[in-house]
Amino acid sequence: MPGFEVFGEEEKKEIMEVLDTGVLFRYEFPEQRKGVYKVRSFEQKFAAYCGAGYAQAVTSGTVALKVALAVLGVGPGDEVITQGFTFVATWEAIFDVGAVPVFTEVDETLNMDPADLEKKITAKTKAIIPVHMMGAPARIAEIVAIADKHGIPVIEDTAQAAGGKLNGKALGTFGKCGTFSFDAVKTMTTGEGGMVITNDEALWRNMSEYHDHGHDHASNPGGRGGEGRSFIGFNYRMMELQGAIGLAQLAKLDGMIATQKEHKKVLRAAAAKIPGVTFRTILDPAGDNATFFAFFLPDAQKARAVNQVLKDNGCGAIYFADNTWHYYPKWEHLLAGSTLAKSGWPFNDQQGKKRVIYDPQVLPATAAIMGRLLVFQVPIKLSAARLKEMCAALEKAAAAV
Ligand SMILES: *Cc1c(COP(=O)(O)O)cnc(C)c1O
Repeated sequence: MPGFEVFGEEEKKEIMEVLDTGVLFRYEFPEQRKGVYKVRSFEQKFAAYCGAGYAQAVTSGTVALKVALAVLGVGPGDEVITQGFTFVATWEAIFDVGAVPVFTEVDETLNMDPADLEKKITAKTKAIIPVHMMGAPARIAEIVAIADKHGIPVIEDTAQAAGGKLNGKALGTFGKCGTFSFDAVKTMTTGEGGMVITNDEALWRNMSEYHDHGHDHASNPGGRGGEGRSFIGFNYRMMELQGAIGLAQLAKLDGMIATQKEHKKVLRAAAAKIPGVTFRTILDPAGDNATFFAFFLPDAQKARAVNQVLKDNGCGAIYFADNTWHYYPKWEHLLAGSTLAKSGWPFNDQQGKKRVIYDPQVLPATAAIMGRLLVFQVPIKLSAARLKEMCAALEKAAAAV
């Protein structure tokens, strides 16, 4: 899964170029930096890699979502629809701009079910955030068509699917904005970091300004101190060291994906021997970033039994039904409305009245799917011995159920 497996001389060389200038800030210091603009160059190369017009680097994938929501004008009083199988960051960002997250079911793509999306759209829906979970696409064309019909912008949470494609088109380029994470365990990593891509220049300009205290980045005789601003912002700037690592990692992304695909193919062939096994719906196998391998058993009991055999043989799979960070009924703090704010915001309004109540039972289709699901992370550096061990464990599971 993570790009940190392939850190090497390339990352070191990029970092040293930054340290040689002494400039860690992405803006300013024109003389000292000797032409080195790593974050800017990472943005340009990432946009080009995705086939997007513009890219804005930020400090995390969570912030990337927040910045996208902010420039789309989403705020208090609004609803944003996402899916009940995602990392908590997706709904944290929605709450952070003051809006309320509404959750849809997932289908066997393990991503947003378009039919359920349609049911959950209200007059208050101001954005839709499908998530390309675990490297493979949501039914993004259908989702965008539904959103367009209602005039609602789509933000693709592509945090887990850098390099993923659907019919040759990069994930993250179907909606109004695509957001990425480069945190420590993502397919490509800068330690911490994120990116928002878009084809809309005006939207990108607002991202650039919002993420840097409103600075308009128009060259000015007074330098940075003399720059203008037209709205309030915040500080979500990426630093040069992250941009440097990003450049090295981006250059390796296609190679990482190719290796993961080879490993995944071997695992899939071994898992195929388990009676009753089926596989996650991958809309475009060629565009899968292959960071994860997901398969289903006929029911939850069988899934747990298979995983027990895998665990006993040193190769336990992820069982997302029990995972507290990625699955709606396990988010006890969301369900309970736990917050540090004395007013109870964002779960309560300023009068202390509940704005939103979450019920763990409302996503039965997702619950059924999660109960049957087992997932392996697909490592890049996988020794022949370990791969053999994993295949042997899958074969033992096949014989046991
Ligand atoms: C990792 C992740 C994020 C958040 O990214 P960070 O860089 O860790 O803030 C958002 N959404 C999904 C689906 C993720 O997996």
